[in-house]
Amino acid sequence: MLKRDKIKNTSITVMGAARSGMDVAILLKRKGASVFLSEMADIKTKADAVKVLQIHDIPFEFGGHTERIFKSEVIVLSPGIPSDHLLVKKAKSRHIEVLGELEVASWFCRGKMAAITGSNGKSTTTALLGEIAKQSGLPFIVAGNIGTSLSSQVDRSDEKGIAVVEVSNFQLETIRDFHPKVGVFLNLTPDHLDRHGTLPEYGRIKARIFENQTSRDFAIYYGEDAEVVSLVQSVHSQRLPFQTQDPGTDGAFILDERLSVRWQNRLVSFCSVYDVGIPGPHNVDNALAASMAAVCLDIPKAAIEKGLRSFRGLPHRLELVREINQVRWYNDSKATNVDSVKCALDSFENPIILIAGGRDKSSDFSVLKDRVQKKTRIVILIGEAAEKIERSWEGKSRFFKADSLSEAVENAHRLACPGDVVLLSPGCASFDMFENFEERGNQFKALVKVL
Ligand code: ADP
Repeated sequence: MLKRDKIKNTSITVMGAARSGMDVAILLKRKGASVFLSEMADIKTKADAVKVLQIHDIPFEFGGHTERIFKSEVIVLSPGIPSDHLLVKKAKSRHIEVLGELEVASWFCRGKMAAITGSNGKSTTTALLGEIAKQSGLPFIVAGNIGTSLSSQVDRSDEKGIAVVEVSNFQLETIRDFHPKVGVFLNLTPDHLDRHGTLPEYGRIKARIFENQTSRDFAIYYGEDAEVVSLVQSVHSQRLPFQTQDPGTDGAFILDERLSVRWQNRLVSFCSVYDVGIPGPHNVDNALAASMAAVCLDIPKAAIEKGLRSFRGLPHRLELVREINQVRWYNDSKATNVDSVKCALDSFENPIILIAGGRDKSSDFSVLKDRVQKKTRIVILIGEAAEKIERSWEGKSRFFKADSLSEAVENAHRLACPGDVVLLSPGCASFDMFENFEERGNQFKALVKVL
């Protein structure tokens, strides 16, 4: 079993040359391992990675994983590679240990770690807790699934500081000793079922965030979801729900419209829910979770309050792009599943022109039908899922199909009336038409800016 102090001279293959794979390869090399990197993509498409590997003197293969990967004692997976990949199974059958990038990086992380998972709101809550940590003046890092790998940040982590880490399901599939002081389980709604099969299985993987915690650690979880509540019953750490109503125990809740935390039987209230700098009821939940986590990390009240007020949200999450003729345009390109569209629709009182669609992830869009009828005036559908969505939502809203995002924006502009909100909240992955959700959101913003 590979441990931190046994890395020197151990032969390790890293599978995947995307950001996290490259970063962990460099980290392991620096720690003295004999690293080999193996990547499916053609070498021609990975010129930058090749250059970096050469600089760090890491041998590699591109264009497919060969038998060479089985010559190492340990395989470290990038999050993009499924843990049930045929080659991973084969490696395990040959008694080669398989670990994830996050697991390995976490061995080198100093200070108190807060790890955040959930179906939706991970990046927002991670960035918000990062903002709160910043306000505290303590050394801190923000890393993980949020776009900056933990491997690339661990050397900056500080014994007296805080590490805020966003953790995806894919990363939790390949942990072994991963042990955050504070674990946060935000919510559980159907997503990635194309990879994880069933909702209980998907939830079970999420709950692994608490797996290695002890009674000195904290498990923060959404107290209003019976499934989440049942998943945390067996944890060994101190359970702290966040929810609207006072749980009557330690936890975070709303008291007289203020974000409040009961902690070791003391009640602390922060700012009003209306002073939270990010819109929508779902962001109040995220703010409650972040406040509870901050208290567990011993961050002073003033810093928590300052962070809650000053954080303005991340791009592509209900991001206000522009107001034209009293029509507000919002970019919510990161809404890649049904529940995030639900939250987006719930965040506005005004009539909505919704732009949705993209690549379906075996989602059940019909659960949104009533909300779509109630909240939208017009729905403009794009991408592969357009027809499935229209069949699921048919009713009194008017439906249009557009062949491109620019056609969708033009139509929305033509049809919008003063007071409307135009909302790109696709409820689907972007890969049928775009490189990723960022490209989709950036294109939307560019189109809206020239209207
Ligand atoms: P994640 O990192 O889990 O994908 P993000 O913070 O990037 O989460 O937000 C993704 C989408 O989910 C955005 O459309 C955002 O508005 C929405 N969202 C954010 N927080 C929540 C929440 N607590 N519940 C449901 N949807 C949310």
